[in-house]
Amino acid sequence: RLKINNLVKTFGDGEKTITAVENLSLDIQDGEFLIVVGPSGCGKSTTLRSIAGLESPDSGSILLGDDELTEEPPQQRPVAMVFQSYALYPHMTVRENMAFGLRHSTDCEKTEIDRRVTETAEMLDIPELLDRQPTELSGGQQQRVALGRAIVREPEAFLLDEPLANLDAKLRAQMRIELQKLHSELGVTTIYVTHDQTEAMTMADRIAIMNDGQLQQIGTPLECYHKPANRFVAGFIGEPS
Ligand code: ATP
Ligand code: MG
Repeated sequence: RLKINNLVKTFGDGEKTITAVENLSLDIQDGEFLIVVGPSGCGKSTTLRSIAGLESPDSGSILLGDDELTEEPPQQRPVAMVFQSYALYPHMTVRENMAFGLRHSTDCEKTEIDRRVTETAEMLDIPELLDRQPTELSGGQQQRVALGRAIVREPEAFLLDEPLANLDAKLRAQMRIELQKLHSELGVTTIYVTHDQTEAMTMADRIAIMNDGQLQQIGTPLECYHKPANRFVAGFIGEPS
């Protein structure tokens, strides 16, 4: 279970301080698919980056089971993040990109790494791309590699930051279905940030709606739609994005 308690993250200092995340608490069940939505700048990425260890919060705690994640260095946290921009290493092959997250794990032998990479590539339908460079791939293929790099780490939680935003509508619809299938097969707790109303309404077990660094409501898509906690939620969930 992933539990965020009173997370605060500010940027800058003095008069220019920006509170990106303000007292955010979230309780995410094992295997849950939680979607985080909210306007640009409301703190979605900062929240994911704090869980992954790419930002250090000012205060608050992030518990995964009994482990306090904020005390662990990023590469040792059992979570894997996927970025909108994919962030693949251009000078490495697909195979090397996918294996990259495992480079520090001493308990993972080379043969085991190879096995996981091959198995994941098959699951994502990209085994023929393993020896190519990212620059030789389409956006959708790069997206699969980025997902693959997260999956081979066998994390306890996936953190996906608008993973489909750069894909065209048709591919996005296809990937949405594949991601749901992956989630039901792997059963890994997932926090998924999106701007896409359809993704939020169709993929989420629960939706968390943020505004100005603060959580406005968390509930099933139907609860948020039919019983919005406030006018902001009503306006946000009601309007097509
Ligand atoms: P978007 O939907 O546009 O991706 P977001 O909800 O992911 O937005 P964040 O990236 O979390 O928003 O940013 C939250 C706030 O923190 C914004 O006001 C942003 O300008 C600010 N911010 C984020 N990262 C930094 C940084 N490294 N330095 C200064 N301010 C930052
Ligand atoms: Mg963002």
